[in-house]
Amino acid sequence: MLAPTWHVLGAGSLGTLWACRLARSGVPVRLILRDEARLRAYLAGPGLTLVEQGVSHTYAIAAETFDSQTPVARLLVACKAYDAEHAVARLAPRLSANAELVLLQNGLGSQDAVAAMLPQARCIFASSTEGAFRPRDWHAVFAGHGFTWLGDPARPQPPLWLHQLDQAGIPHQWTPDILTRLWRKLALNCAINPLTVLYDCRNGELQQHACEVATLCAELAELLEHCGQPEAAVDLACEVQRVIAATAANFSSMHQDVSHGRRSEIGYLLGYACAAAQRHNRSLPHLRQLQARLVAHLQGKGLPSV
Ligand code: NAP
Repeated sequence: MLAPTWHVLGAGSLGTLWACRLARSGVPVRLILRDEARLRAYLAGPGLTLVEQGVSHTYAIAAETFDSQTPVARLLVACKAYDAEHAVARLAPRLSANAELVLLQNGLGSQDAVAAMLPQARCIFASSTEGAFRPRDWHAVFAGHGFTWLGDPARPQPPLWLHQLDQAGIPHQWTPDILTRLWRKLALNCAINPLTVLYDCRNGELQQHACEVATLCAELAELLEHCGQPEAAVDLACEVQRVIAATAANFSSMHQDVSHGRRSEIGYLLGYACAAAQRHNRSLPHLRQLQARLVAHLQGKGLPSV
């Protein structure tokens, strides 16, 4: 019997990375593109191209728009956090009963929004350290090998199709603690990325702002504990320092977004952390001040601040 099709919503960096690896392992894959114009643009070319270690391969992956009628049983949501809820809502009428979704979004907030909208579907949250970027449409460069954690806060059993990810060469592990992983990644992001935007610097230059970073880590650890995520707080400051040193030459993803005039995912990272602090009545003045500075900075550049 033919394996069920993976629909991939969002043919950007991560969507292309996943779609190409799944397709070449023999799994049926179909892209869902935002409209007819994007579909025509895609169909005018040979398919999706993935560049790995300087070598390009192109995969003629089928594509459609939301208007297609075929049911969707397995959906990889690979758009940005701020697009996920709206994009999945457009697809909701096509989701089959017991559909399974994998949500690749960074940060927190978008996953709950999608899951709340689809009580019948299974929403699997992912946290990935793989890195890819999109030099142009329909091309992705696999820039950083990493790992993807998958988990479902509502149900601890892994899905039956995980072996397909093994066959596709997608390094992953199922975890019952996906929220802890997502919170930890969010905290690392909050301690590093906003400051790289405000100081307009590479990650390594934050070593010159060690006190400020340490103060933020202390507040973030306090927040994690009050949000029921004490494990995500363990040795946070040490890991932040390690990440800053290990990625010293890199520009953070938020820095790249802002310097290219693109919308950032602040609302699902620092914005989410500050909203959680408010919900828990925690006064975290440095985190709040960081958010105010970042919002003002983004507004000054005419970029969305949510
Ligand atoms: P990206 O390159 O900007 O790709 C997003 C894609 O979503 C674009 O192709 C966009 O379409 C598509 N899209 C948006 N709204 C849509 C809609 N309504 N219908 C159909 N397609 C839609 O983003 P990304 O870097 O892959 O990031 C995706 C998520 O993964 C983010 O939350 C990010 O933080 C997370 N993540 C990324 C990486 C990475 O290395 N890239 C690593 C870890 C986590 P258009 O092409 O038409 O604009």
